[in-house]
Amino acid sequence: MKELNLVDPVDGIYYGAIEVKGHDIVKIKKLDEEKRGLSYLLPGFVDPHIHGAAGVDFIDATYEGLQKMEGFLRKEGVAACLLTTVSAPLEKILKAIDTLETYTQKNPHTIFKGVHLEGPYLNPNRRGAHELKYIRDVNIRELEEMVSHPLVRLMTVAPEIEGFEEILEITKKHDVVVSIGHTEASYELVEKIYNKGVRRFTHLCNGMKPLHHREVGPVGGALLNDAFVEIIVDGVHLCGEMVRIIRKLKGVEKLELITDSMAATGLGDGEYRIWGKTVHVRGRIARTEDGSLAGSTLTMRKAVSLYRSFTGADHLETARVSSYNACVDLGLKRAGRIKKGYSSLLVEVGPDFEYIKPFIDDSTG
Ligand code: FE
Repeated sequence: MKELNLVDPVDGIYYGAIEVKGHDIVKIKKLDEEKRGLSYLLPGFVDPHIHGAAGVDFIDATYEGLQKMEGFLRKEGVAACLLTTVSAPLEKILKAIDTLETYTQKNPHTIFKGVHLEGPYLNPNRRGAHELKYIRDVNIRELEEMVSHPLVRLMTVAPEIEGFEEILEITKKHDVVVSIGHTEASYELVEKIYNKGVRRFTHLCNGMKPLHHREVGPVGGALLNDAFVEIIVDGVHLCGEMVRIIRKLKGVEKLELITDSMAATGLGDGEYRIWGKTVHVRGRIARTEDGSLAGSTLTMRKAVSLYRSFTGADHLETARVSSYNACVDLGLKRAGRIKKGYSSLLVEVGPDFEYIKPFIDDSTG
């Protein structure tokens, strides 16, 4: 067993001994109060919004591509994530889901826990890097086909589009969580659908009408209501002050750090072909030719380290925003806790966040 400070989002921080075997935490012993100067053990990261990494993009990934991406993400400390589609033709979206289905059947312990459909029912005015030609009107048959797949758990939609009521009905039937994103929804509309159970926002502030003092829109709606919000903490999509504003207003129980990362993640600067367009990555910032941000090249490790530097968050808060909250929100099992029976994919963090690395149990006993 290995002894270190264990950080469980529910039980808190305590000094203890842990033993992992295979895919599970098999034993935990509480020893004493927090011991300063030692490492902290956090649950592995949970990322509900990731498009790609290591040269692979989920929307056109092969089986081997998924293997490669998983290898990369495990080294980044990710224990669970939702692979995210972009607006694309139906066949392409279904093919990506099928590939993941084959993959999960052969790899039951994969970190890929399902699919986040981002689009194609978005507001074209707030499309970001989504291709205009693939953003479309709601088609019930198409919608059913996508969300009826058991791997689909989350869908980002602009609630102001026609057919949103039908989307609500169908996603509810299939247990798919709806997240508000790529939108120009008014505050009034956000409030209305909040009362119908829509309580989640996709990459808050990005791809949505900004907060205005006479019409606070989706950002105001997210901040005033008890909803979960994704945030991209890369220092570019949101400045540090905005991260602090969001944290101050929402508290730490509703924040979910995401990467929104795409294929160029982990590859360095250069020019890439992503989602049918040329994307330039410079200093880790990815932009399309017209200057829009094209996802990120962020990793959860980097997000955690920046979140800490912007907010001064401690280890317990970090564990919440980087794993536990997303599990509560999306019903993901076996991740987000340091507890017997949970995933053995864990992250070791220095007392002062000097290092953030995947946990390796190198104890001999
Ligand atoms: Fe997006």
